[in-house]
Amino acid sequence: MIVLKFGGTSVGSAARVREAARIALSQPAPRVAVVSAASGVTNALLEAARAAARGDRTARAAAVLVIHDKHDEILGGIESPLQRKLAWNVVNEVQNVLDATLDEVEEAGGLSDAFSDRIVSTGEKCLATLMAATMRDLGHEAEAVFTDSIIATDGRHGSARPDRARTREHAEHLVQPLLEAGNTVVATGFIGFGPDGATTTLGRGGSDYSATLLGAALDADEVQIWTDVPGVLSADPRAVTSARVVPEISYDEAQELAHFGAKVLHPRTIRPAVALDIPVRILSTFLPNEPGTVVMREAPSDRIKAVTALKGLILMTLDVPELEDLAPAASAVFRVMHEQGVEILNVSQASSRRRMTYIVDAVTGGCANLQLLLEANLDDLEATITCHEHVAVLAAVGSGAAGTAASMSRMLTVLNREKVRVLALNQQTSSVAMISVVDECDAARAVAALHDAFIRPVVATSRARRPRRTALLSESLRVG
Ligand code: ADP
Ligand code: ASP
Ligand code: MG
Repeated sequence: MIVLKFGGTSVGSAARVREAARIALSQPAPRVAVVSAASGVTNALLEAARAAARGDRTARAAAVLVIHDKHDEILGGIESPLQRKLAWNVVNEVQNVLDATLDEVEEAGGLSDAFSDRIVSTGEKCLATLMAATMRDLGHEAEAVFTDSIIATDGRHGSARPDRARTREHAEHLVQPLLEAGNTVVATGFIGFGPDGATTTLGRGGSDYSATLLGAALDADEVQIWTDVPGVLSADPRAVTSARVVPEISYDEAQELAHFGAKVLHPRTIRPAVALDIPVRILSTFLPNEPGTVVMREAPSDRIKAVTALKGLILMTLDVPELEDLAPAASAVFRVMHEQGVEILNVSQASSRRRMTYIVDAVTGGCANLQLLLEANLDDLEATITCHEHVAVLAAVGSGAAGTAASMSRMLTVLNREKVRVLALNQQTSSVAMISVVDECDAARAVAALHDAFIRPVVATSRARRPRRTALLSESLRVG
């Protein structure tokens, strides 16, 4: 059983939906295709929701028009009048729910996270409907399923956490019979349902995560993430034009990359695959014959494979010079962060046990808010809290290599040469990644320089030996 996931740009027009359908149908059955909303639709839905909340009918209508136009264009690509009509009926019904929900938001004069989730879910629902109809148009049995009856989550709207055991039960009851009847199942990415039955979402870019969740729930042999780049690259190709495909990468390495900013995978994507040892392949719908990247338990590694940066973070230090024991302060910080839903990305403690350093996700209101919040909760601990906004984490990822003193020294030499101020450093005990914290404005320059230092020389050598195996991304794109 194979699960294939198609991202927004891979289903952004009638032609792209047809191409994605053909790719899915070329895989052996049984198969599940997980789809995102068409490119631009989720942003337009959020824009419509915000416009409705502030009662701006012109902006709401403009955003809704973008969505309707996109879906109409894809509908137009379905040749069979019957399939087009059937798909239109469902799309129209979903868009009516959208309108009714926008009316409710307008009436309430504000946008709750629950309403926001109900609104954005309509993008994936329309696309799943259109993709299934396109597959039937191509002569194959296909059924769309909306995963707000399958993927069970907690109630954290906008960033819900799945319940894998319950999801498995639902998938067995609702998806398996459709597969057994010979259908290709087309499932909505991104969405689930909370304890009260309301639609939830898994966070922006969450369709990747839906694919591995469904893959695990259905004991898939492989999950394929079909996107607009030919695999996981050695850096974000928008920032580093010489970035190249990494052919093989371990679960640990992929998780570090995804967590530290490689947008090609939602940060949580790999988790469900790890327990069941399901390989995850990243492939391009624009270059479907390229081998892509395979993510698996063990991948050969003796070097840094990729460099990435995650921006928009806060570096917070907590000084407790008078405290006998750091534990009460640390536990208070974790409690507050947990209660406020703030993710802590990295923690370190000074050997004198007088200072803790945290890298956290940016919070609403920035440093000022975070500081107020903590001061109110650490009142009796006499801690001094200092926040540094607009920082980025750089990660150089490669099992083994990241753990060596040579790599660390090289990284610092490069950053020093580039005059990048290093605010904090962390070489993880697992040796999968070297992490440095820098000012956000230095991140792009630092990534380019680290890529030059760690990746280019290695690829230049292997290219000399095997000229065509590691093609430049730009060459691959030219072929396309
Ligand atoms: P999809 O719509 O298919 O989910 P995304 O836009 O979410 O696609 O993710 C693919 C994008 O991720 C690429 O176009 C690329 O710009 C970006 N990206 C960032 N870092 C990396 C990386 N290390 N490797 C590949 N792509 C990356
Ligand atoms: N459509 C959602 C988003 O734009 C989910 C996804 O594309 O994975 O974030
Ligand atoms: Mg994505």
